[in-house]
Formats: sequence, structure tokens, C-alpha cells
Amino acid sequence: MNTNDLSIFEKLESEVRSYVRSFPKVFNKAKGYKIWDEAGTEYIDFFAGAGALNYGHNDPKMKAKLVDYILNDGIAHSLDKATTAKAEFLTKFNDVILKPRNLEYKVMFPGPTGTNTVESALKLARKVTGRTDVISFTNGFHGMTIGSLSVTGNSFKRKGAGIPLQHVVTMPYDNFVNEDLDTLEYLERFLEDNGSGVAIPAAMILETVQGEGGINAARFEWLKRVEDICKRWGILLIIDDVQAGVGRTGTFFSFEEAGISPDIICLSKSIGGYGLPLALTLFKPKYDIWEPGEHNGTFRGNNMAFVTATEALTYWEDASFEKEVKEKSQKITAFLENIVKKYPEIKGEVRGRGFMQGIASNVDGFASKVAKEAFERGLIMETSGPKDEVFKLFPPITIDNEGLEKGFSIIEESVKALVNSKEPVIS
Ligand code: PMP
Repeated sequence: MNTNDLSIFEKLESEVRSYVRSFPKVFNKAKGYKIWDEAGTEYIDFFAGAGALNYGHNDPKMKAKLVDYILNDGIAHSLDKATTAKAEFLTKFNDVILKPRNLEYKVMFPGPTGTNTVESALKLARKVTGRTDVISFTNGFHGMTIGSLSVTGNSFKRKGAGIPLQHVVTMPYDNFVNEDLDTLEYLERFLEDNGSGVAIPAAMILETVQGEGGINAARFEWLKRVEDICKRWGILLIIDDVQAGVGRTGTFFSFEEAGISPDIICLSKSIGGYGLPLALTLFKPKYDIWEPGEHNGTFRGNNMAFVTATEALTYWEDASFEKEVKEKSQKITAFLENIVKKYPEIKGEVRGRGFMQGIASNVDGFASKVAKEAFERGLIMETSGPKDEVFKLFPPITIDNEGLEKGFSIIEESVKALVNSKEPVIS
């Protein structure tokens, strides 16, 4: 067989496939921040499974626990029956994450994906409040099932629903129009005025940093005001931390530094630790009004993911982990700011925070070209935003300085090559 032969995918796999088009190789091995294709070419992974691999590939401690569990005939599938693996996860999640942050939440296991936790959050908010509508925000991304799509901004994805997406009102996210327009003053006018056509909603749902929508980071004071408005009007605040959570912004939850306490939190992607599917919906105990079995699913409680998720939480037992992530985040910011300054032709703006940053370029198509150049030089990186205008640095948060520097130099080389290119890449 030829190495990196894509013909089987072209022949049998649906046209819906997407990442394989940006990274057209066949991958067969990965470790930490590195991944290899069939030809043995090494790539630095600044994509990290779109945030599902915050701890990198094949973490040795998680792997050892998982292999051990399998070899000992641990329970693989259990619906929502009680298992030892689940008990251990719940105990450690409470001890290492919730209690030290003074957070009290009940844990629900919906189906194992991001969109599953979002659907359960929307359903619960509607059940608790008895209201139907939800406020979502411009450029928010929450998943591909109908409820999640209804609160997602992207028009291409929304069209895929094939039916009207209802009971949602979209409001402008922080800085959506420009820095001078106070988007929350605007939002609150709609709630206050009986003539606005907007009913008091069951919930507001948002990402603190928009992962797919362009790495827009809401200011902490904006988030705090959203929380105040929600409290004032009896609206539940849902934070979708599927992508920004589990350390991606530098703290375990992305909203910690904003000092808010969401009513409902959606987690998935990296919560399983090893890239294994798992999702959690957390809510304040008073909202736990579900009837037994009212929201179920065959793959709630993925026991192998519980095993790796429990081990992953060990990272958070040691405060120096968070400190290191924050220090490396500052390096990412400094690197990106330097690129923007050094290459004014790219008309760049640094966006995001923590390990969730990128450069939005005002030159049409530039971000996609940088990602393509970078791939040719051995780095995997995604784009984000409604026009793919952002190239998005998403290394594992466990990456060492050497890996980070290697990635930086490939990105800079790619930018430089494009800026200096004789082709009219910069219009
Ligand atoms: N919410 C956010 C913020 C996401 O980034 C994503 C996935 N990119 C989802 C929800 C949906 O997750 P999944 O693809 O696992 O359904």
C-alpha cells in the first residue's frame, strides 16, 4: 500500500469530511505534541483535536491506567449504572476541581459529545423556567444537533438544519459592532421594553472565548454584567466551556478569572483527558429537577473515559501546573504581538487568551494560507472565524518550551514566506 494514500477515503467516506482536506495525510502515530503520518513525517500539533487533546496525545500516565483497566476486565459500558470508575471520577472531580474553587454543582452525564451537553443544558433551562426562548450571541458555536444549531451563529452550519431554527434570539457579543457600542445596554433594552418583541428568555448561552467564531474573548467585566442581567431577570446563565474549558484559557474553567458563577456549565472535549468521548453538564443543585430517565442516552458514562479523566485531574492537584500554563500563555501572547508588529502587511490583530489565541488578519484569505504553509513545514494549525480570518494556536497545554518555540518558528517562517512571496498573496 502507498503511504499517505487517501483514495479509500475519497472512494468510501462522505463528502462531509473536512479536516482531511486541510491536512491531507494519513496519520498513524502521536505522542505529546507530536503526530506522524504514514511516511514518518513529524508534525507539531497546534490543533490538539480542536481542544479535545489539551493534555496532548497518549499521555503516559493516562495510558497506563487505561491499559491496566482494560486488562483487568474493568467495565467498559454501563449506561448510567453505578461503577467504580464513575465513583472515582466523581470523587476526584469534586475534590480537585469543584471544592477548591468553592463551586457546588450536580453532575449530569449526557451523551458523550459537546452538542449532547448543550442540548441537555437548553432543555433543563426551559424546564426550570417554564420559558421557551433562549438568547444566544453572534458568532457563538455550540454544536450540530438542532437545539445546538439554533444557538449557533454561523449561517452555513445553520442552513444544514433544513428546518427553521426557532425560539432563539441572537444578541451582539462583546465588541461585535465596535468598541464604542455597549452591547449589553442594547441587550437589556430588549428585556425592559415590552415593545421590543423579545420575550424574557429561559437562558443565555455563551462561550467566554469563542473557539469557532473567531477567538473573540469577552472582557471579564462584560461577563460579570451578563451574569448581573441574568440574575436581575431570573434568566439562567449557561457557559459553554466545551472548547474553552479544562485549562485552555489558563484556568480549569474559562470563567474563573471573571468571577462569575454560571447556573449551568457545559464540558466535553478535554474532560475525558485522553481524547476519549465524555461530556458533563453541571448545574446548581436547586435546578436538579430532572425526573429519573427524563434525559437519557446509551453512551452516558463512558467508563474508559472516566479512567483517563480521573488521572488527568491529577495535573490540577499541583498548583504549579496552572502557573506554568499561564507563563507559557504569556509567551504565546508575546510571540503573536511581535508577529503583528513585525509584519504590518498582514493587518493582524491578536485575539483570545491563554492557550486559546490567534491572529485575525484583515487580508482576505491570509489566515488559511498561513495554516497551509505551516502544514507544509510540519505544523498542524486550524483557522477560525466567519471568514476563516483567524489562524488559531491551539497547542496542548502540557507542551514544553522547546515544542512551543519550534511551533513559533514554523509559524513565523510561514508568515514571512507569504509576505515575501512574489505571488500577490497580500492584497
Ligand atoms: N460547544 C463548543 C464551544 C464547541 O467548540 C463545540 C465543538 N467545536 C461544541 C460545543 C460541539 O461539540 P461536539 O463537536 O463534540 O458535539
